[in-house]
Amino acid sequence: KSSNLKGYAPICLGLEDFYTRRLYLRIQDCFGRPIASAPDAWFDVVERYSNDSNKTLHRTTKTSKCLNLGSYNYLGFAAADEYCTPRVIESLKKYSASTCSVRVDGGNTKLHVELEELVARFVGKPAAILFGMGYVTNSAIIPALVGKGGLIISDSLNHNSIVNGARGSGATVRVFQHNNPAHLEEVLREQIAGGQPRTHRPWKKIIVIVEGIYSMEGELCKLPEVIAVCKKYKAYTYLDEAHSIGAVGKTGRGVCELLGVDPADVDIMMGTFTKSFGSCGGYIAASKEIIDHLKHICPAHIYATSMSPPAVQQVISAIKVILGEDGSNRGAKKLAQIRENSNFFRSELQKMGFEVLGDNDSPVMPIMLYNPAKIPAFSRECLRQHVAVVTVAFPATPLLLARARICISASHSREDLIKGLEVISKVGDLVGIKYFPVEHEKT
Ligand code: PMP
Repeated sequence: KSSNLKGYAPICLGLEDFYTRRLYLRIQDCFGRPIASAPDAWFDVVERYSNDSNKTLHRTTKTSKCLNLGSYNYLGFAAADEYCTPRVIESLKKYSASTCSVRVDGGNTKLHVELEELVARFVGKPAAILFGMGYVTNSAIIPALVGKGGLIISDSLNHNSIVNGARGSGATVRVFQHNNPAHLEEVLREQIAGGQPRTHRPWKKIIVIVEGIYSMEGELCKLPEVIAVCKKYKAYTYLDEAHSIGAVGKTGRGVCELLGVDPADVDIMMGTFTKSFGSCGGYIAASKEIIDHLKHICPAHIYATSMSPPAVQQVISAIKVILGEDGSNRGAKKLAQIRENSNFFRSELQKMGFEVLGDNDSPVMPIMLYNPAKIPAFSRECLRQHVAVVTVAFPATPLLLARARICISASHSREDLIKGLEVISKVGDLVGIKYFPVEHEKT
């Protein structure tokens, strides 16, 4: 109804899926067209016009060359890189884009073995195993680790790949309140007869699953407290570092390094290569016994084509840059830059009066919109002013907790960040999402 949002008056409908009995949100325009498939909305076609992915050309809006504030390009490796790119090209020439084979049958190149060793060394675990996709790493590994008779205790805001893996495992699944170790302990006590740790365990195995940085919250896991509870009740810990590995910690080793946790205290470390390393695929790092077990029984390892060799080479090279093994200090500079960029952007948004979720040092910055009807206005107005943002709503978030999620990169320049802030501020005023208005001093 608001006059300054003319043309954006969307209609939100809550629709119940007949089969799953879940409520879905559909946002449509005044002609009844779903906004999600409107040509200039979420299924936009993008082209890159800068070397890194920080500038994109949105083709369907034709004129819009945008600053990209939505990709997970945390260290700026989604770019032609002086160290990575020549090596990736070489690997493409040598191995081609695909092995066209599974790991156990012709798809196991020297690169795959090298990356597994490198990942294990990088995250501080004895061994690692690769998968072609981060999503599949969770959804296929969890059922290979725990099944009927086992118990999974999952953070309430864990990623959909974890939720699907847990559901598909056949184990009993319980959820604890988001990032609340005290509630985790309550749930564990309830599940262990008489609340007696180490006795009367009805479960074959208990696995507690958390994320390093929560992808929709930008929040760091309370990992030391979670580990303390897991140790007390002899539960395994499973840590998804999709958004934290490479992005935080003095040498990029993720939340363990940032929070002073010994990696030996986390039983299963999962991560993806799609964010900090500018590639694709995922890994599990754990003890040799667990990794051997997965290599022998996990269908996603046995039956799926192995990771694309150039994608593997990209990760090898990116990790070497991060570790300074390329002979430069570019990795250390990138890590310092992402921290500086993230903390600058977060504090400027807060000063403007936005409600920004998450912790310092986290490059993931959700700006709360709350009302899902504000999504199209916010994202399209930003796009019109040449800033591309990602907006998220139900079912990825609770129904009335819609948000825009900014992802900051080490390769954003200060000018990029200032431009982004100016546009977000203007659009924030237009859409009415500065929930903490700043009192200006009277002059
Ligand atoms: N885990 C988390 C926490 C994620 O946010 C994502 C996707 N962003 C995944 C797993 C899946 O990873 P990928 O996109 O690399 O398949």
